Amino acid sequence: MSARILDGKSIAAEIRQEVRLEVEAMAAQTGAVPCLATILVGNDPASATYVQNKARACKEVGITSVRIELPADLSEMSLLHEINRLNSDPVVHAILVQLPLPPHINERRILEAILPEKDVDGFHPSNLGGLLVGSPLFVASTPLGILELLDRSNIVIEGKHAVIVGWSVVVGKPTAFLLLQHHATVTICHIKTRDLAFHTRQADILVVAAGKPGLVTGSMVKEGAVVIDVGVNRLSDGRVVGDVEFPEVAEKASLITPVPGGVGPMTIAMLLKNTVDACRRKWGERCGR
Ligand code: NAP
Repeated sequence: MSARILDGKSIAAEIRQEVRLEVEAMAAQTGAVPCLATILVGNDPASATYVQNKARACKEVGITSVRIELPADLSEMSLLHEINRLNSDPVVHAILVQLPLPPHINERRILEAILPEKDVDGFHPSNLGGLLVGSPLFVASTPLGILELLDRSNIVIEGKHAVIVGWSVVVGKPTAFLLLQHHATVTICHIKTRDLAFHTRQADILVVAAGKPGLVTGSMVKEGAVVIDVGVNRLSDGRVVGDVEFPEVAEKASLITPVPGGVGPMTIAMLLKNTVDACRRKWGERCGR
């Protein structure tokens, strides 16, 4: 079997177009323009590129973005002040702190300082807990993007065995809960999992988010599986690859995401969607809706 490509790039373009129309309609009806504030601490080139891409994507769909760039030696207290300022700014609907933060700053403390209703990354404990009980204000963009990709590709989740490699707060855990909510039977694998291949071979839907190039090979995948490769790894020759050995896994899978061009563009598209939701919710509150 040779897999069909799950084209995240074109599905994300479709979503961005929908978001653009929604932003226009909202502005016409209410005068509200969604605004995302991004905070970048330090000058890590990869983080700077991510922030730049997010700002560009906002501009394309009519979302205002405010970029706050702070020095790497900024104190945790100063960063908390900045977040409090954005929390109380009525013009800002959404706040995103680009990770990772410098080691002297406690990441959890920073993420917990963002108001849950502005936490479009979905990393606040109240949103993570909300996911557990099925009613979060926001879900992290990457897991949301994975679910949207499956949905828009007409992949039935209910009753399927989904196996997730990686249990991070950013990808693995929220993806597992979203798949559970859709009545998949979910297995989560991590670094201590014994015989990873045994588990991955059970998967009807395999999500790999480990950050390890070449981790999943053809022999680890069931014939006809749907394979979602979340990994983004830059090799020494400059190539960007996922966690999955693409050519051999594509021989076994029925559907597979490429890297780049799979989950990555979906993540940005869902961030835009979350930002519009934050704005609409704020506007609704003001009007008592
Ligand atoms: P992370 O926080 O480093 O988590 C990686 C997870 O993989 C951990 O839970 C780890 O388990 C598990 N793992 C690592 N090696 C493993 C192995 N050999 N067998 C089984 N499990 C293993 O990374 P992350 O933030 O979740 O990101 C994962 C990858 O996705 C990275 O490449 C990242 O760049 C990419 N990513 C892409 C997007 C996108 O939009 N495309 C968004 C976010 C992340 P333990 O915790 O038990 O060690």
